[in-house]
Amino acid sequence: MKPASFEYLRPESVAEAVATLDLYGGTARILAGGQSLVPMLGMRLMRPGAVIDINGLGEELGRIEARGSETTIGALVRYSEAETSPVIAERLPLLGTAIRHIGDRQVRNRGTLGGAIAQSDPTGEVALVALTLGATVLVTGPGGERELAADGFFVGSYANTLGPEEMITGVRFGVVPSRSAFFERGRKHNDFAVLSLAVVATPESDGTWHDVRIGMGGMNDTPVLARAAAERLEGARWDEAALAEAATLALRDADPPEDVRASAEYRAHLLPIHLGRLLAGLAKEPRHG
Ligand SMILES: Cc1cc2nc3c(=O)[nH]c(=O)nc-3n(C[C@H](O)[C@H](O)[C@H](O)COP(=O)(O)OP(=O)(O)OC[C@H]3O[C@@H](n4cnc5c(N)ncnc54)[C@H](O)[C@@H]3O)c2cc1C
Repeated sequence: MKPASFEYLRPESVAEAVATLDLYGGTARILAGGQSLVPMLGMRLMRPGAVIDINGLGEELGRIEARGSETTIGALVRYSEAETSPVIAERLPLLGTAIRHIGDRQVRNRGTLGGAIAQSDPTGEVALVALTLGATVLVTGPGGERELAADGFFVGSYANTLGPEEMITGVRFGVVPSRSAFFERGRKHNDFAVLSLAVVATPESDGTWHDVRIGMGGMNDTPVLARAAAERLEGARWDEAALAEAATLALRDADPPEDVRASAEYRAHLLPIHLGRLLAGLAKEPRHG
């Protein structure tokens, strides 16, 4: 099938892109990497009045910036750039690891971080990492700039709090805990996840762990935090009993969907097993160095 007809526009600045979104009264769509939008147009799941191609806005939207304790990634940064960025390897290793699970090389060469956040796929790796690390989504619209906490941004399957006349300009991360681990189970390598897990925490010299956050993908209609599990592990020593208890508590924050990839029952079966293993692996890592 071919897309329905639409206007194709290439703005020369973010201001022009936003003015164009405003002009079309919410019926226009931003085109970034096109890895989700183009198939949706082709299948006529979307019939926008205009497609606003932001690929010429690399100067404004294509940077990875480290400033003090903050790291800001422009909306147009491609997965492959983030994957190989020394700044991300040093400051946000969880993000670099998670991105390697997205699609294949072709998808990662084109897909963008802003596109991934906007797409808000409940199994999306970037959305999961943004939530787990407590990132801030940077947004510009006709009313000016807004900063939205990732925790609260994803409100349903492929749904978020972005207005139809707004665009994402970047995502900002603060200081992150010193340890992280990521796990993903799909039907085959680099397919969309059946279950994905992201864990961050900081070990202290007295044997306890702090700043614990656990994110789950594929376990609800949005990525979600396993809050009860993280509370159990916060300030605690991660012995076998604590890890087993936390792994089971994660089910409290899950409401696994049933879809073509897996049944809800199978997802619920996988969660405590893989979270338990992921946490045990993190607990066993040397605490210094
Ligand atoms: C074969 C294949 C495998 C894939 N596997 C995975 C996977 O394992 N994990 C995963 O997470 N994704 C996967 N994807 C999807 C891919 O990650 C997309 O790149 C991503 O979902 C969207 O990024 P994009 O830059 O391509 O956005 P586009 O496709 O250009 O846009 C997607 C949506 O976001 C909107 N949008 C884009 N940029 C902005 C912006 N700056 N502001 C506001 N709205 C914006 C668009 O209007 C559109 O609605 C896969 C895709 C393919 C084709």
